[in-house]
Amino acid sequence: MSASSIWHPFTQHGLGEPIPTVARAKGAILHTADGREIVDAISSWWVTTHGHANPRIAAAIAEQASRLDQIIFAGWTHKPAEELAAGLRAIMPAELTRVFFSDSGSTSVEVALKMALGFWLNRGEPRHRILMLEHGYHGDTIGAMSVGARGVFNRTYQPLLFDVGTIPFPAGREQDTLDALERACRDGAAAFIVEPLILGAGGMLTYPPMTLAEMRRICAVHGVLFIADEVMTGWGRTGTLLACEQAGVVPDILCLSKGLTGGAVPLAVTMATEPIYEAHLSDNRAHMFFHSSSYTANPIACAAANANLAIWRDEPVMERVADLCRRQADYFTALTAHPAVTGARRLGTIVALELGGGRGYLSDLAPRLLAFFAARDVLLRPLGDTVYVMPPYCISDAELGRVYQAIEDACALV
Ligand code: PMP
Repeated sequence: MSASSIWHPFTQHGLGEPIPTVARAKGAILHTADGREIVDAISSWWVTTHGHANPRIAAAIAEQASRLDQIIFAGWTHKPAEELAAGLRAIMPAELTRVFFSDSGSTSVEVALKMALGFWLNRGEPRHRILMLEHGYHGDTIGAMSVGARGVFNRTYQPLLFDVGTIPFPAGREQDTLDALERACRDGAAAFIVEPLILGAGGMLTYPPMTLAEMRRICAVHGVLFIADEVMTGWGRTGTLLACEQAGVVPDILCLSKGLTGGAVPLAVTMATEPIYEAHLSDNRAHMFFHSSSYTANPIACAAANANLAIWRDEPVMERVADLCRRQADYFTALTAHPAVTGARRLGTIVALELGGGRGYLSDLAPRLLAFFAARDVLLRPLGDTVYVMPPYCISDAELGRVYQAIEDACALV
């Protein structure tokens, strides 16, 4: 039995796989307690944008921690939260006038779903059906699982999940997707939730901006609220600040987390349009928005997010993003030609390579790949047999070279 009593997420402890201890991290490098230097090629589960231990974010956290660490947010406010809400308003679409805080991507989705239902009920037209895109993933809480693809991640919890309408994924059959969405909207739905342009945990599956724009248009025609889950895609990952920008889409509700604090501490926001806020605005206390958690808008987390926004304002972040896209292009092209690579996708800073032909999340190739990459001191965590790269924007050429060399060598395992 392991000496540790920790139960890790998405980990089968029965397989006895080694769990390295990370002592510190800087930029794109994780330093383990036993002296290894590991390249973090997946931004520690897609959160780290500017690199680990960014000095501006670290300083903001330290300063805030000694000034105001935590305060109840029901009926109280504080400067870091006010500054952050104003900062988000300044860079996010102007229609998204309201900012609701929570703690993770999953909770930002729960909040979005609850806002949608509150909107319809408070307007006296109770709609509750949620539509989702096939292969979608929105988190691991019950509501977020309910609006995600049913499969290995959530089979055990199926009896707790609520019924939703699933719109077929638009790969090569855009018209089917749009027709199905049109029908489902016509039948009456509260909201449609999507990951814009690329579905993350579903296997880094991409679809064109035009389809996203059409889906948004159909929802608008039928008054179905459009929820963009930019938890993964936000903060430059797809080459623009938001993926929605590439389709000229403004959602009714926007979920952001991960890169919101540069990936340093947990925080999320759900942004909403004025009509959604106004539907909850009344002198009737029963119409208030019933959602909260102990740490809503934690001041330390807000200070980290403000430092992140300052980095986006003062530093050439989009140039770094564009540069990272460019630097990965040649590796991508070369690997696409490899006979072991059976599918390849690239969007912005994200590269996905399917090795050996799509055998699903529990493919036996996945643990072999994981062990191979670990032995090469590269943090890559394939989704089934889809290896994807989503590095912090500060990754050096040499570090990126190590990542792609490891992937090329791993092709021999297929
Ligand atoms: N939405 C999307 C699109 C995600 O990729 C994720 C997490 N990978 C979530 C929601 C859930 O975020 P969290 O893990 O922070 O709860």
